[in-house]
Amino acid sequence: MTAMRVGVLGLQGGVAEHLAMLRPIEGVVAGSFMRVSELERLDAVILPGGESTAMGKLLAEFGLLEPLAARIAGGLPVWGTCAGLILLAKDISNDQRHHLAVMDITVDRNAYGRQLHSFIGAELIAGLPGGPFPLVFIRAPRITRLGPGVQALAKVAGEPVACRQVNMVATAFHPELSGDDRFHRWFVELARTAQTGIASRKP
Ligand code: GLN
Repeated sequence: MTAMRVGVLGLQGGVAEHLAMLRPIEGVVAGSFMRVSELERLDAVILPGGESTAMGKLLAEFGLLEPLAARIAGGLPVWGTCAGLILLAKDISNDQRHHLAVMDITVDRNAYGRQLHSFIGAELIAGLPGGPFPLVFIRAPRITRLGPGVQALAKVAGEPVACRQVNMVATAFHPELSGDDRFHRWFVELARTAQTGIASRKP
């Protein structure tokens, strides 16, 4: 089996927690990345939680904003958790800025504020076997609009908290803090399918 090279954006935020979840997965080589030369070698990318404004500024400073957006638009599997979800969103309703702006969703930053500060629940996630998944929210964004090509994967109180648009996955919560590696394994499988798809299209 060819190793999957999964990079966690290492500019700021909860990088180590994602790496700790990824490293035990067989067939995965996981590391953090900050440079375009590193991005070029990756098969899949995770954008961690943290502070989206700081991460967005650093993405621009490191010259990563456009190359990363272009690779995602070209099919690179990506998963954004919390602040990472905000980086992916086309629209941020309570902010003038947007960052990578590749995913057809609108988000409201810090919408869950204190009510959901460290709120923990459990919900079924579409496509994830093994029963309800623990949901850890930390000043989470609310996903207020899903574009026509975006599928909700999980809901809390009728509102989407995880969604997918082809190669892009976004969660308002933090699977890397849940002690449950099923979401990371599912994302690696999604990325592997994308990799196989690309390989089989080659002449
Ligand atoms: N509130 C943060 C932001 O808006 C996201 C919080 C998180 O990633 N846990 O960037």
